Amino acid sequence: MMVTTHAAMGAALSALLLPLSPELAGVAALAAFCGGVFPDLDLLVGEHRRTLHYPDYYTLLAFGLAGVALLRPVAATVAVAAFVASAAVHSVADAFGGGLAPRPWVRDDHRGVYCRLRGRWVHPRHWVRWDGAPEDLALGGALALVCIAAFDGPVRWLVVLTLPVSATYTAVRKRLPEWAPWLLE
Ligand SMILES: [Zn+2]
Repeated sequence: MMVTTHAAMGAALSALLLPLSPELAGVAALAAFCGGVFPDLDLLVGEHRRTLHYPDYYTLLAFGLAGVALLRPVAATVAVAAFVASAAVHSVADAFGGGLAPRPWVRDDHRGVYCRLRGRWVHPRHWVRWDGAPEDLALGGALALVCIAAFDGPVRWLVVLTLPVSATYTAVRKRLPEWAPWLLE
């Protein structure tokens, strides 16, 4: 899945907090947007979908942090919990996308996301066939609409910005292995 889809997913899930506290839901959405981006920074350093992807530990940590945020619901605790929860959702969601190879539509790669508890790669499920597939754009777009309807201010504008980025990436994704192989290495 595209990093923009992950970011919108985290922010959209934060809308569930709106009935409890609109103010804290806004803080959570902003933090969750960033937490949705964070794991993919391992495209820049380390091994992609392994160095900063923790489907197991982020999830365990997120439950603990959510407990802390429930006991003491202030901006800082809610933001930290939302950031980690969104990074957890991102890491788990990567297992439902395509493999890591430059042409994931060929399905020639068994690496979805690395799970440290099991000490091995989780196989990609291909529900979203590859990052930048039409269904990825549709999912990201739908999640962005949820955010645009639910939030105003910086969250809304950040999410609006993901739309042209996702559309452009989707349009060029299948050309990337020839046009910019360095980007996928
Ligand atoms: Zn990822």
